[in-house]
Amino acid sequence: MSGRHILVVEDEAAIRQMIAFNLSRAGFEVSEAGDCATARNMIASAQPDLVLIDWMLPDMSGLELTRALRREDPNRDLPVIMLTARAEERDKVTGLDSGADDYLTKPFSPRELVARINAVLRRLSQDDEEPIVAGDLQLDPVSHRVTVGDREIALGPTEYRLLKFLMANPERVYSRGQLLDFVWGQNVYVEERTVDVHIRRLRKALEGFAVNQYVQTVRGAGYRFSTR
Ligand code: CA
Repeated sequence: MSGRHILVVEDEAAIRQMIAFNLSRAGFEVSEAGDCATARNMIASAQPDLVLIDWMLPDMSGLELTRALRREDPNRDLPVIMLTARAEERDKVTGLDSGADDYLTKPFSPRELVARINAVLRRLSQDDEEPIVAGDLQLDPVSHRVTVGDREIALGPTEYRLLKFLMANPERVYSRGQLLDFVWGQNVYVEERTVDVHIRRLRKALEGFAVNQYVQTVRGAGYRFSTR
């Protein structure tokens, strides 16, 4: 989840900077706003992936800001974590149903903050995952089902991940080394010919369907997913 953009809305500079410092260190891209007006301008110009909003702010409460965002179409689903100073505030905020995705009571550890942000981002990105479609071929990331027309294709877990990666990145050639990094992960040691084995299995599973042509070998370069 690192690399995601988090906006921190908190008027107390010392706390805001401490949060920003810890989030940058965890690999997030961070912006800071000291009040709601600034935050709204920043969200309008570049929508972050998640907003951390303190309850007590000078121009508007964090609660009002969250509700205002929920009424605006582009920000309706913007993930929000609300920060509260005390447990009683937290209970109040929860009871008021502000529309925040999670709540965190100060003081919290950087580790807890990062864990909560990742949990919210993970939860929402899973709900959001739309099926990937290419011609008759459809891959549904929620159910993990791959279908061609109304026929379901049985794939092993590696073939599934490989197909998902290729379908999500069509019309690009990936070398075996790149596919190993993206699909198997950078810290896994696997020989490059493993990629060929799984491409072969994937093609075998798609055998007899026209969509089999989509998984293409590019000689001397690697593999490409293309409907052309
Ligand atoms: Ca505050």
